[in-house]
Amino acid sequence: MLSGAALTRFRKNLLAWFSQFQRDLPWRRTRDPYHIWLSEIMLQQTRVRAVIPYYERFLARFPTVDALASAPEEEVLRLWSGLGYYSRARNLQRAAQQIVARHDGLFPRDLEEALALPGIGAYTAAAILSIAYQEEHAVLDGNVARVLARLSAVRGALRANGAWQGLQKTATHLLANKSPGDWNQAMMELGATLCSPRSPQCLLCPVGEFCEARKRGFADLIPEKRAKRDTVEVTLAALVLLDTQNRALLLPPPNGAKSSAADDVPTLVSRTWHFPTVSVHFDAAAVELKKFTEKSLFAGRKFSAKLQPLSKVRHAVTYRAVTVLPFQVRVEKLPNVCGAKALDLDNLSSLHVSNLTRKVAQAATKDPLTKKQRAASA
Ligand code: SF4
Repeated sequence: MLSGAALTRFRKNLLAWFSQFQRDLPWRRTRDPYHIWLSEIMLQQTRVRAVIPYYERFLARFPTVDALASAPEEEVLRLWSGLGYYSRARNLQRAAQQIVARHDGLFPRDLEEALALPGIGAYTAAAILSIAYQEEHAVLDGNVARVLARLSAVRGALRANGAWQGLQKTATHLLANKSPGDWNQAMMELGATLCSPRSPQCLLCPVGEFCEARKRGFADLIPEKRAKRDTVEVTLAALVLLDTQNRALLLPPPNGAKSSAADDVPTLVSRTWHFPTVSVHFDAAAVELKKFTEKSLFAGRKFSAKLQPLSKVRHAVTYRAVTVLPFQVRVEKLPNVCGAKALDLDNLSSLHVSNLTRKVAQAATKDPLTKKQRAASA
């Protein structure tokens, strides 16, 4: 492990590089703990470029922790809609409510208190406290772990027993105590830019002279690739049930009013507002969707309308490759389903819907027959 003059030079080089080359990101122009916290939560599993517009819209609508704490959950989820991993938004609001109730609306600067909040783990707490309050906590996430492992030429799985703790010790040892916030961001920035997983740009690296993996010529072999989980194919059928005013039936997520259809709906869609959807066998999709519709939406009554197939929708969620077979049906009157809403297909953004539901809506609105019918009844 580096020490003495080498450690001083290592820190100086990295901080100077960060100061000169860091990306200009909205959450780097502030030390407001609420803003930093929001950015850290949004950035989990999500790319920087995708986060920026969400971050800006969210703060415009909820400028303070109090505003977030007192907002209707549906509104918070609507602003999060499309960013995915919705438990992040729910935890964010629950944490905001606790911060208002217990910490006068200010994100706590004590580590234990921060860790007690919903959705805050060791990495997130260290990032927020160091950046917002200059508390001396070293962050360790996948990017930082990769940099540290390469610097020390640590082979093997980084998240294996013992390895992660060793990397955390290294991160804490290297932390520049005078500027922990900048230091943590510099480590993260190095991992996100030059020290990338596949092709590290060692020639440009500000700390290349200290890097063991680079010296030994195997930087790109760290970390070892994890065995990829096999892709699971999932087939769903979704029903776009339209009335004569072109309003589609949407069912609520479980936290809203519980619909009679909720029990059979795959969790891939049921956590947000969704079209009636069921898991099916590819070749029997229409028959199985019809059965589901009769049981769930029409209380067992026969549903004889012809299902018009729409273009197939593909969607990937972690290891699942989802194929949705959407069907459209026009009815005089939408069935009365508890908690459901009737909504114009162009107006889905007024509800919290997933990208998968958006894609189904697009398949319906782009369908030539639907276009004609909508134009005729407009
Ligand atoms: Fe990463 Fe290369 Fe820098 Fe080492 S020298 S830290 S492998 S970019």
